[in-house]
Amino acid sequence: MLIRSIVPLRPLVTRRFSTTMSSKAKVLAVLYRGGKAAEEEKKLLGTVENKLGIEEWLKEQGHEFVVTDDKEGPDSEFQKHLPEAEILVTTPFHPAYLTRDLIQKASKLKLAVTAGVGSDHIDLNAANERNITVAEVSGSNVVSVAEHVVMTILVLVRNFVPAHEQIMAGGWNVADVARDTYDLEGKVVATVGCGRIGYRVLQRLAPFNCKELLWYDYTDLPAEAAKGIQARRVEKLEDMLAQADVVTINCPLHEGTRGLFNADLISKMKKGAWLVNTARGAICDSQAVADALKSGQLRGYGGDVWDKQPAGQDHPWRNAKNKLGGGNAMTPHVSGTSIDAQTRYANGAKEIIRRYLAGEAQEQQNLICIDGDYASKAYGQRENKTKATGQKGAGP
Ligand code: NAD
Repeated sequence: MLIRSIVPLRPLVTRRFSTTMSSKAKVLAVLYRGGKAAEEEKKLLGTVENKLGIEEWLKEQGHEFVVTDDKEGPDSEFQKHLPEAEILVTTPFHPAYLTRDLIQKASKLKLAVTAGVGSDHIDLNAANERNITVAEVSGSNVVSVAEHVVMTILVLVRNFVPAHEQIMAGGWNVADVARDTYDLEGKVVATVGCGRIGYRVLQRLAPFNCKELLWYDYTDLPAEAAKGIQARRVEKLEDMLAQADVVTINCPLHEGTRGLFNADLISKMKKGAWLVNTARGAICDSQAVADALKSGQLRGYGGDVWDKQPAGQDHPWRNAKNKLGGGNAMTPHVSGTSIDAQTRYANGAKEIIRRYLAGEAQEQQNLICIDGDYASKAYGQRENKTKATGQKGAGP
C-alpha cells in the first residue's frame, strides 16, 4: 500500500481574517519575466506576461491589478505601488524582498500571498507587528522539488555534469569521468527538515537501497508517517552530518537557519560528502561552500536556490568546482516552478485571494502569519511567542 494512503490527512482547519477588506482592492503582483517563452507557453502562469491567470477575474470584480517584475530599489514599480496595495502577491522564484522598512511604507497592506512555498522574502516579524496576514500555497510544488532533489543527488553522485559537458565538447574519456562516479546504493542520505519536501525525498529514495536514510527536524513525525519512510531520526544535527554521504536541506529560511551551513558546520560533515540545497540559498554560506568544494571537504554541491535572486555574474556558485573540475549541479530557481507546479500555485494563490476578498476563512495549512503571530511551526522554534497550531510542520 502506498504510504500516502495510510497517512492521516490533516484536518481542514480554517481561520477567519481579523482585518476588513475593501470592496475595490489594489492587488500588486511581482512575478518573473517570461519573454518569448511565456508568450509561446501560456501555462507559464508565474510570469509577468501570464499574470497567474487572474487578471480578468480580478478586473471583472472592479479590483485594480498591477503586475511587474521591476523589484529592486526605491524607483522600482514594486516600491512605487506598494504604499497603495492591499494585497501583495510574490513568488520565491523572483522574490520581491518585503523588508521591515518597506512594510512600514505599505500602510494599506493586509495580505501578502506567496505564490509557491517559502515566505522568507518577507520580514515575518515585521509583518506580525503590522498584523499583515502572510499566506503561501502549501504543498503546491513539494513533489516538483522532491523530484529535483532526487535528480540532483543522482546528477552529483553519478558525476553527470562533467560527463555531459565532455560529450557536448566532442570528447570521449571514460576514465576522466568514472574516477569520480559512484553508486547511490549503499550510501547514507540525510535530510535537514522532514516536512512536506524532506519527507517526500525520503519516500522517493527508498527503492535505491541506500545504507541508511536519516532525518533531523525539531518537529516529530506522526507515528504512521514515520513508519512509512523507514528512516532514522537523529537528535543532533552535527551527529547526523558526521554520518551522511549525501545531505539534502529541506527546511525554511528563518533566524535559526540563515547561514547555518557555514565553514564550521561544513567541517563537521563527512569529508567528500555531497550537499544538495533546494530550500533557500542563504541557509548556506556561499563562499564557505565554494571553498569546501575546492579543498575536497565537499565533493559536490547542487540545488536551485541562491542567496540573492537573480544571482550576480560573480556569484561563487556559478563557477565553483571540486578538485577534479566537477561537483557543481546548480540551476536557476526552477525546481518548484515546473509547468505542473505553476498550475497548482496559481490556482492556490487565486483561492487565497478569493477567500480574503469574500471575507472567508483561510485554510490553516496555508497560513504563516495571522492576527499578529506565527500560524506555523516551520519558521523557527518560538515556544513562548507563537500560537502556531502545528498544522504546517514535519511530515506529509
Ligand atoms: P514544511 O513546512 O512542510 O516543512 C519544513 C520543515 O522544516 C518542518 O518540519 C520544520 O519543522 C522543519 N524545520 C524548520 N527549521 C528547521 C531546522 N532549523 N532544522 C531542521 N528542521 C527544521 O515545508 P516544505 O513544503 O517541506 O518546504 C520547505 C522549504 O523548501 C520551504 O520553506 C522553502 O524554503 C523551500 N522550497 C523551495 C522550493 C524551490 O522551488 N526550490 C519550492 C518549495 C519550497
